[in-house]
Amino acid sequence: MTTTDSVLISDPGPLLVGEMSAQSLYDKCWTLARNLYWTWHPEIISLFRDLDPIRWRQLDHNPIALLREFTPERLASRAAEMVLYSRINYAHRRLKEYMANKQTWASWNAGVLGSKPIAYFSAEFGMHESIPIYSGGLGVLSGDHIKSASGLGINLLAVGLFYDQGYFKQQLDDKGFQREEYLDTKVENVPMEPALSPDGKPITIKVDTRTGALFAKLWVMQVGRVKLYLLDCDVEGNSAEDRKLTSRLYGGDERTRIRQELVLGVGGVKALRALGVTPGVYHLNEGHSAFGPLEVVRERMHDDGMKFDDALREVARQTVFTTHTPVPAGHDRFGGGLVEEHLGPLRDQLGISYEQLMGLGRVEPQNEAEPFCMTVVGLKMSRRANAVSQLHGHISRRMWASLWPWRVEEEIPIGHITNGVHIPTWLAQQMLQLYDRHFPAGWIFRMGEPEVWQNIHNVDPGELWETHNALKNLLLAFVRRRVSRQCRRRGESDETVESARNVLDPNILTIGFGRRFATYKRATMILGDLDRLDEIVNNKERPVQFVFAGKAHPKDEPGKKFIQTIANLRHDPRFAHRVVYVEDYDMNVCRHMIQGVDVWLNNPRRPLEASGTSGQKTVLNGGLNLSILDGWWAEAYDGANGFAIGHGTSHVDDAITDRRDAEFLYRVLEDEVVPMYYDRDVDGLPRHWIKRMMNSISSLAWRFSAHRMVMDYTRHCYVPAAGGLSSDMAIH
Ligand SMILES: *Cc1c(COP(=O)(O)O)cnc(C)c1O
Repeated sequence: MTTTDSVLISDPGPLLVGEMSAQSLYDKCWTLARNLYWTWHPEIISLFRDLDPIRWRQLDHNPIALLREFTPERLASRAAEMVLYSRINYAHRRLKEYMANKQTWASWNAGVLGSKPIAYFSAEFGMHESIPIYSGGLGVLSGDHIKSASGLGINLLAVGLFYDQGYFKQQLDDKGFQREEYLDTKVENVPMEPALSPDGKPITIKVDTRTGALFAKLWVMQVGRVKLYLLDCDVEGNSAEDRKLTSRLYGGDERTRIRQELVLGVGGVKALRALGVTPGVYHLNEGHSAFGPLEVVRERMHDDGMKFDDALREVARQTVFTTHTPVPAGHDRFGGGLVEEHLGPLRDQLGISYEQLMGLGRVEPQNEAEPFCMTVVGLKMSRRANAVSQLHGHISRRMWASLWPWRVEEEIPIGHITNGVHIPTWLAQQMLQLYDRHFPAGWIFRMGEPEVWQNIHNVDPGELWETHNALKNLLLAFVRRRVSRQCRRRGESDETVESARNVLDPNILTIGFGRRFATYKRATMILGDLDRLDEIVNNKERPVQFVFAGKAHPKDEPGKKFIQTIANLRHDPRFAHRVVYVEDYDMNVCRHMIQGVDVWLNNPRRPLEASGTSGQKTVLNGGLNLSILDGWWAEAYDGANGFAIGHGTSHVDDAITDRRDAEFLYRVLEDEVVPMYYDRDVDGLPRHWIKRMMNSISSLAWRFSAHRMVMDYTRHCYVPAAGGLSSDMAIH
């Protein structure tokens, strides 16, 4: 991709206004809006914004909803007013070239994948805030994975579920307690279309259970060069209850959950068949889709006359499994009754007994007390499995060692590929422009290479600092807008609304914390000693301020309590202006936060954070990480590219660990972070801090990019699973 204005200026021939009809201009805008390519191209985003900045914000940055408010004539006149013609033409042409380009990384490095695609399964996909079919890190990771697969030209298609209510919108009541609201997504405002079979018919798949069939229709969304297929149970043929089966992400009870996973896994494989697609590799992103390979086994038995065991071995060779959580409760487990109800008909066709089926989901196949675990079946049905950071690899091997009782821990076949983020999605336009000025031409095509990022050390420190502060100001403006809106909605006094409009100070060290409020992430850690926090935030020479955001799962009462504790600090005069809570954390809130903070705080209870990715987004934009040595940070921190809380150890007693880590957090803030931030030279620049920003960018941006991650998956998993020659997974 190329995005700078300098390219626009050298663009040879913008069409004259009169040469293009209003209709053709309008059609081009629709083409741009219908491919999610726009979500990582700032020049297209700004184009949509310029059509109507206010509606753009009100419509959650949804170009489909925006364009529906325009007629071709009104669009043409607005385009003339804003001088958008050449920009629209240019963007449209770039998209066309992108779609047609065959000279990609994959064409040189993954030729073996050429004819048969990778099928990437995930229960959620976070592509953009206007498409609410994700809840958090897992979804955003899937979105970033397929965007990078598109960029690298990998022959990959993705399979997920379409949730018409998605995940909830969060509001806090006047007591600071989380309220969840589910909104219906208007299907006509989502950039997807019915997927068609080879003979041009819409596709509905059917999955049998012991208690009746489930139906799902298939949608397709275009994400750059990648197609994302989404199954949707809101179809005729289903009972009223089943029509709501895919309404909500992670809603409902266990039975809802297994039914969703049946549709995703088994339904997903059936959908690919209906499309006429034969994947070369199946990638199960987390256990939710792990029923899928059983359906592939059935196909092989039926089509090729194979025996169950042989088919299983063949299918496992083609299957890649990624596990995402070291939290035991984070792995789906189902009792035998639910499994038999939902997998029974498939089991009949596979010709295996109930005990055999259950055994596939158990660590000890004969143990009748053991439920069916989706991670276990995922591991058993795949030849290649991986965790999502180096530390998580160690933890996962230990956690699942009993599946391979004859092997020593180091030989447990679970490797690791550390997560990364899709740089163009998370990089602020201002930083992109700075990189464009100082990095070699075409650097964006090589963003997974370390050499590219060394150039940050040649940037003038003042220029980097100014760019960062411009982004910080945008964040503060965003926070003020949101916080004052929150006050107004709760019906608070004009005075309160007014003071919310002035909350936070751009000259103060700003620390951000945004993520799901799962309790192991310990959001309230910094509040453990309020007097000490008071001294930190209200220090006369060196004050500190905090921005918090994040949703708690609707059933997570302790998580909601954490939110309440933080949000209610606004009633404490010591903290009212220094600690703010922004509601409804989503990709939009996240983007503002990770682009504008000075420091990104992460203090999970080690080793429960499998990887974490939000801190990687901060790196790209010049923010520094302050984190427990867990997940990705345990392998990223080198002493000079951010800050560590503690030494990467934990006690068997959580209470002791928590107390120690809190002390480490206060100490590193007081002794390192705050003094370094306020240590200014004669020009008012914090030289040591800026040096650390540069170290962070040069050492981390490429390594923790989704491009690097997808290249690793391709070399170590996809190519070998597709039968090509390649290295084995680097486990350690
Ligand atoms: C990136 C992202 C996450 C992941 O955050 P972690 O700190 O890795 O848990 C979660 N939610 C949203 C909306 C994100 O954009």
